[in-house]
Amino acid sequence: MEYTKDLSIVISLYNEEESLRELVKWIESVMVKEGYTYEIIMVDDGSRDGSWKIVKELSSKNQNIRGISFRRNYGKSAALYCGFEAAVGEVVFTMDADLQDSPDEIPSMYRMVTEEGYDLVSGWKRKRYDPLGKRLPSKFFNWTARTVSGIKLHDFNCGLKCYRKSVVKSIEVYGEMHRYIPIL
Ligand code: UDP
Ligand code: MG
Repeated sequence: MEYTKDLSIVISLYNEEESLRELVKWIESVMVKEGYTYEIIMVDDGSRDGSWKIVKELSSKNQNIRGISFRRNYGKSAALYCGFEAAVGEVVFTMDADLQDSPDEIPSMYRMVTEEGYDLVSGWKRKRYDPLGKRLPSKFFNWTARTVSGIKLHDFNCGLKCYRKSVVKSIEVYGEMHRYIPIL
């Protein structure tokens, strides 16, 4: 029988030593509460701070946590792609490491895939805490992506998304392509 879990959570991280422990603790509490079988795949995209040391520490304490380490910074798309390749979950989540995405959203998104038949569910940073210098380009990007693709999604850039396994196993992303996965 094929080795599988209910869900995989792929986290690409670059210099995120400050948030990793809290993020993992939060995810673990949601997983335990919901009774999911799960894995957390933490892809260190060439961090220069203590992130990798923390990933190793976290994975030694919880066998559901796996770490992948890049020798240099290849970018978020490469990190997610590598995580997708490794993932065994029936539903695969992506999540940013900087605590801007809430693990509390996982159960309802999971059910949209397993019970309501969606192939992809995307989060939406409705209230953004980023500076205007980030929000404006993001608004422009989303408008353009919606117009060109015809896909009516509020927030292509939101790091919190989930996919049916067959979706992530059929796409290849690199460069800045993580922003376009819904279109792919
Ligand atoms: N990240 C990464 N490689 C990079 C840059 C960022 O893996 O070269 C990670 C980062 O640690 C975070 C996620 O990608 O977990 C989103 O990054 P960021 O918060 O900078 O993006 P934004 O929130 O502005 O979309
Ligand atoms: Mg962020």
